[in-house]
Amino acid sequence: MLQIENKDRFGKVVADALAKIELTVTDAGTKKRWINAIAKATAEIEENGVFMTYLPEDHSLIIWSQKSNNIYTANGVCQCRAFEQGSPCFHRAAARLVRLYLEGENVNHGLQNESGKIFPLEAKEIPYLKNNSYIKAERVGSVRIN
Ligand SMILES: [Zn+2]
Repeated sequence: MLQIENKDRFGKVVADALAKIELTVTDAGTKKRWINAIAKATAEIEENGVFMTYLPEDHSLIIWSQKSNNIYTANGVCQCRAFEQGSPCFHRAAARLVRLYLEGENVNHGLQNESGKIFPLEAKEIPYLKNNSYIKAERVGSVRIN
């Protein structure tokens, strides 16, 4: 059972997810499908959260679909028909929204597109990709600079 206690924060998570799609998905059709998936996920979480369980160990969301009577466990992958066809599904969107909501606003795990590729996070968000002062280029082309 999943209950959104803080609707303001959940709203912000949804807004951020939509903004991220806007920024990272270039294909118009894919963008539209993800936006639809997020909209459906938002409604499902609010209305049918009682049929969902979040598992923090593997960041997955278990969703019992009353429509199909199937149980889906979504994190980056899903068992539904849409996922099989390589399309965004609301299960995965819901899993991500719930994860971001439950884990707080500062968590940023990148975004998977329909082929499972993770969009790169900005370097500033990943400590080991920050500019390391101790690694210096010694040459630029044939010119020794160090
Ligand atoms: Zn799915």
